[in-house]
Amino acid sequence: MIKSSRAIGHLMDLLKVPGPSGGESAVARLVTEKLIACGCKKTWVRHDAAHNKIGEGYEVGNLIARLPGTIKAPRRLFSGHMDTVPLCRGAVPVRRGDRIVPRSKTALGGDNRTAIGCLLSMIEVILRERLPHPPLTLLFTVGEEVGLKGARHVRTADLGKPAMGFNYDGGNPARITIGATGADRWKAEVSGISAHAGVHPEDGVSAALIASRAITEVATKGFFGSVRKGKKTGTSNIGSIQGGEATNQVTDLMVLYGECRSHDPAFLDRITNSYRSSFERAAASVKNTAGESGSIRFTVARDYHSFEMKKDSSVVRRAEEEIEKMGLTPSLSISNGGLDANWLNSKGIPTVTLGAGQHNAHTLKEYADIGEYLLGCKLALALATAP
Ligand SMILES: [Zn+2]
Repeated sequence: MIKSSRAIGHLMDLLKVPGPSGGESAVARLVTEKLIACGCKKTWVRHDAAHNKIGEGYEVGNLIARLPGTIKAPRRLFSGHMDTVPLCRGAVPVRRGDRIVPRSKTALGGDNRTAIGCLLSMIEVILRERLPHPPLTLLFTVGEEVGLKGARHVRTADLGKPAMGFNYDGGNPARITIGATGADRWKAEVSGISAHAGVHPEDGVSAALIASRAITEVATKGFFGSVRKGKKTGTSNIGSIQGGEATNQVTDLMVLYGECRSHDPAFLDRITNSYRSSFERAAASVKNTAGESGSIRFTVARDYHSFEMKKDSSVVRRAEEEIEKMGLTPSLSISNGGLDANWLNSKGIPTVTLGAGQHNAHTLKEYADIGEYLLGCKLALALATAP
């Protein structure tokens, strides 16, 4: 019942509209227009107040459409994110055979406009054909690419307390992602003591030396990059180092930002704590002639919590059944990146993540596979209307 030309048209329209994280108002406007054109009542569609909680100049909150059911069954949630990565700036989508690709040197934004096109196509068919359906909620989030911000701040009451969720953010329509990593984001402010680097360097405490000793210790202990201790695994990275003003001045301030990830919350704590303790030890180890040492201010925010759903949970089973009915072989996977589903699961909505044809996300080689996109649309329709 999905008309290919309509579904592809929605995707092409969506790919043309920019939507950097925090600047999603233009794409949200287009999605709202399309929802209304698909037959949604204006009163079903609204923004939440997530942007007020995020701050940082976010233009709009998450866009939510709540459809009343025509059959009595628990509410189902479908979600996708509206924002695209900076590499998509200026992207112009063109069709090339069975793919949609960027015309010049940009990413495409198939991550995650394939999801939005897919959910619009699903709703269009449901309302046009008057297909029986349980109450449905569509959630289009903001700020996913910069730390799942919209999903973090969404309120389950605004979603109508759905019983299960289907998040779209992937390629292969037969793959069901049932778990994802958790992550910490940290900031280390390293304070030293400044002194003239040529006249009295011994009076100074170098923040640069402290930072480098700390990093060396983290790496020596095996907590840098790819981390493996017995059966426990994770990753860590230092993403930014800033500091220093002049070559003739002992560096008195360095600020480092980093992240740590693991599927195991206790091991994630261990990786992050290894950074904290290495910085503290390094600060204590660097002293000037007066015996003064530097100091550390280490702050951590749990970016999102890891999750892993049971293979026999009803939402996983349901996705598997519908994929099988389409003649595909479902496979289960665990993601090493965060997903909006991390927060939806944390908030008590068991949510799997599915694919609708996005590939090579965040690269110049990004493309959308039209065949997979149409299968994703078909699967969404089946999941939304199955009794
Ligand atoms: Zn994505």
